[in-house]
Amino acid sequence: MEAKTAGYDYVIVGSGSAGSVVASRLSEDPSCRVLVIEAGGPDRGFWLRLPVGYFKSIYSPRVTRQFKSDPGEGVAGRCIDAPRGRVVGGSSSINGLIFIRGQHEDFNDWASQGAEGWDYHGVLPHFRRLESFDGPPSQYRGAEGPLSVSRLRNKSVVCDDWLAAAEADGLPRNQDFNGASTYGIGAYQLTLRGHWRESAATAFLHPALSRPNLTLVTGAQATRILIESGRARGIEYLTDGEIRRVDVDAEVILCAGSVQTPQLLQLSGIGAPEHLEAAGVRPLYELPGVGENLQDHLQMRTIVELKEPLSLNDQVRSPIGLAKMGLQWLFGKSGPLTVGAGQVGGATRTRYAEGDRPDLQLFVMPLSVDKPGTPLHRYSGFTTSFWQCHPKSRGWVRIRSADPLADPAIQPNYLSDPLDEKVMVEGMKIVRRIYNRPEFAPRWGREVVPGAGQQTDAEILDACRRMSSTVYHLVGTCRMGTDPQAVVDPRLRVRGVEGLRIIDASIMPTIPSANTNAAALMIGEKGASLVKEDRGHPRHQQSLDRPL
Ligand SMILES: Cc1cc2nc3c(=O)[nH]c(=O)nc-3n(C[C@H](O)[C@H](O)[C@H](O)COP(=O)(O)OP(=O)(O)OC[C@H]3O[C@@H](n4cnc5c(N)ncnc54)[C@H](O)[C@@H]3O)c2cc1C
Repeated sequence: MEAKTAGYDYVIVGSGSAGSVVASRLSEDPSCRVLVIEAGGPDRGFWLRLPVGYFKSIYSPRVTRQFKSDPGEGVAGRCIDAPRGRVVGGSSSINGLIFIRGQHEDFNDWASQGAEGWDYHGVLPHFRRLESFDGPPSQYRGAEGPLSVSRLRNKSVVCDDWLAAAEADGLPRNQDFNGASTYGIGAYQLTLRGHWRESAATAFLHPALSRPNLTLVTGAQATRILIESGRARGIEYLTDGEIRRVDVDAEVILCAGSVQTPQLLQLSGIGAPEHLEAAGVRPLYELPGVGENLQDHLQMRTIVELKEPLSLNDQVRSPIGLAKMGLQWLFGKSGPLTVGAGQVGGATRTRYAEGDRPDLQLFVMPLSVDKPGTPLHRYSGFTTSFWQCHPKSRGWVRIRSADPLADPAIQPNYLSDPLDEKVMVEGMKIVRRIYNRPEFAPRWGREVVPGAGQQTDAEILDACRRMSSTVYHLVGTCRMGTDPQAVVDPRLRVRGVEGLRIIDASIMPTIPSANTNAAALMIGEKGASLVKEDRGHPRHQQSLDRPL
């Protein structure tokens, strides 16, 4: 059954990190009618708001979509969990709260790959505009934006010792990874408002919902983009078991993330004809890059057992420890409950790094788990994770069928490039070197993961293949650029289809060196400003216009 909804100027598909920003910025103009269609439900609930609730939400089917990668040779034939937020706020409502933009060069790389205007100087004003940082003012930081970014609010003596060991190993202290450089070690910043999680929804979308020109529909999954005479005219979506249609006067804006944006394009007949036909979808527009160029950070965790009960694993098992944490959170707005995925770490260089640029990111937590969302270990675990900043492996997202509710194939091809293998092996050596410095060595007795048995390069690589996981940074599947494989141009317009834009993490040409939420938010800011600039200006005919 098909019901019709009134027209809007803009329909935004997805209320995640980027979508929430776009919705807020576009609806600043009262003459602009904006509709947001979100597959998930409202972002209510204590665990979504409590920072440490990350460990609860990540595998909750109520607020996530539990994708898995296809088996990968580079990861010993394993399928890797790839959850994404399916809730208002998207993945920003369930993520680990780490707020780090990446290296300046990451964005200069985008520009050199054809993303004109997206070099560091082109993106910095948008990074500054979106945040209110509680640290000292600087030319790099914003103080008046909607998103509250906080310095770490938890102390740990073992983390302090780890930092001292890393410093002794030659890494400088870095007071602000979002400043001049990511190089060095220090505390991570978090998306926190007081002692609560700050998501894109709490910062951008909810405050804007009082505007009469902004409508949010939840529990509504876009199933197809409606294209007539080469122009996106609206979308079809599924809600309460009913297919509905909404028409659009200006643009359809896809903010469904790196898995579901390419999926929606493919379901709508936009992509590589051979992949669409194989899935039973009639190709309408040939854009071979749709779903390709998938990139992610593959993370390897190392765990050592502490000699004293200084791990959070110990504290959560003691009623006194738990009560202390609760009081710290409630009255001090601090302590372990204000932390999500990690607290200290930094960026360093392996011998494969290019010039001064770090190629390894480090994350340290005074706890240990098999994977986020599972119980803390019963021993006094301490974790250092690492990942390669600029992996060369590339994969894809491809629909398997024309069913919009089916999961697409996700193949990141982890560790399929020889450089990626070498950097991971070096990463393990660096982490062990830090563990063995006199500043940290007295703290621990046993290496639990990967285990002292894994020593040669071949053994370490094998351990990485068997034990690594994702840090949930899937990006790049609708790459921006100007070459034939690019899906969107640097103004984020889908090449060859009028009135259709993509504003989310899928447009990144290459993965930033660090966590991807800050960059996704920035894409929302810059993308919205491009839409505003183009509003009312008839779009120039694009060079590529190839209806099949
Ligand atoms: C578990 C986890 C932990 C993470 N931890 C961190 C971290 O600590 N720091 C960091 O920087 N990054 C982290 N990330 C990554 C970061 O959160 C993402 O890169 C970022 O949120 C991506 O933003 P996005 O706007 O592209 O997509 P999302 O935020 O995922 O938003 C996509 C939205 O679109 C909706 N949607 C999808 N398809 C449809 C459809 N067909 N119809 C309607 N709605 C649809 C989804 O429900 C979702 O709300 C983490 C990610 C995950 C999943």
